[in-house]
Amino acid sequence: MTNPSLLILPGDGIGPEVMAEVRKIIDWYGAKRGMVFDVSEDLVGGCAYDAHGTPLTDETMAKAQEVDAVLLGAVGGPKYDKLDFSVKPERGLLRLRKEMDLYANLRPAQCFDALADFSSLKADVVGGLDIMIIRELTSGVYFGEPRGIIKEGNERVGINTQRYTESEIARVARSAFELARKRNNKVCSMEKANVMESGVLWRDVVQEIHDAEYPDVELSHMYADAGAMQLTRWPKQFDVIVTDNLFGDLLSDLAAMLTGSLGMLPSASLGAPMANGRPKALYEPVHGSAPDIAGQGKANPIACILSFAMALRYSFDQGAEADRLEQAVEAVLADGLRTADLIGEEGREPVSTAEMGDAIVAKLDASL
Ligand code: NAD
Repeated sequence: MTNPSLLILPGDGIGPEVMAEVRKIIDWYGAKRGMVFDVSEDLVGGCAYDAHGTPLTDETMAKAQEVDAVLLGAVGGPKYDKLDFSVKPERGLLRLRKEMDLYANLRPAQCFDALADFSSLKADVVGGLDIMIIRELTSGVYFGEPRGIIKEGNERVGINTQRYTESEIARVARSAFELARKRNNKVCSMEKANVMESGVLWRDVVQEIHDAEYPDVELSHMYADAGAMQLTRWPKQFDVIVTDNLFGDLLSDLAAMLTGSLGMLPSASLGAPMANGRPKALYEPVHGSAPDIAGQGKANPIACILSFAMALRYSFDQGAEADRLEQAVEAVLADGLRTADLIGEEGREPVSTAEMGDAIVAKLDASL
């Protein structure tokens, strides 16, 4: 049997700093759990532009299509702000998402008990929270035609089109149901079927896929505006939420912030299953390259480490090992270790990026 393969793209700014901590975790799994990954590393974003004049070379793109999973740090920085749009660092990331056809964006909102006081909501509302928002990522109003700004009489009109085909809805619905089966078996689908035809179709297709293929999963439907209210009122009522590109953009940011800092938020973008049954997959922290703290050892590596935990769970079917890693993170936080972004009023002494990574590895050791 060949080892599972991982392409690591650290990127720019704090990307390489947080990825260095993930490498420690990957090495730990190889040495202590016999899970050896074939790891290759390459450039994406501004550093790729510096080396090759493009934010993502064709060779790197081809590698991304071949491996079992891609793990990305972050791209961008002020140095590249003036570049032409076609070679900006973000174009590298967009090319990966588009050519790998990553249509399901998974954004967990998980609140570690030790950080419950860090949320803007009451600790009992967010403590122990563990929900997953699945946002459709490749269609909907951000891509629909016609679009543009046209002249109508004396004034300009801005136009965007919300458009979804049955198959686009069906595939993301399947992702949600599959995921729910690995979690608490509950899906809530959100749209605006009360005012949008695309929402009516969304609701119908999600229900049809459920009835035909996933009758064992509990399914509910909610209007997206009501969903936003429920997410802030009592988020723990949800398990998996599936929604379109636009509503998902808003609801996933809202849900993510229930839990505190940007430095804690992982994500996964999944596409169709490959020949080996694994989905095409890109894992990355939600945060950017944080140029304001880059090179200072201040970055929180947890978002990137939790992105690797998602890879263990969703690409490599290692749910128990993903639990182990998440518990190691939880234990470190419970001990009071905090990177600078997690220090509120209490004025603790922050630990560095590497100290946080080392402490998580030590907890993994202790878990054996
Ligand atoms: P950002 O996420 O990089 O930073 C926002 C704030 O959060 C900063 O104060 C930063 O110091 C802090 N922060 C972010 N991640 C952190 C971490 N792991 N630990 C501690 N603090 C952290 O967003 P921005 O400042 O708007 O963008 C900076 C650059 O990143 C821009 O070039 C932008 O285009 C790019 N960007 C890239 C991605 C990506 O690669 N996926 C996402 C967003 C922004």
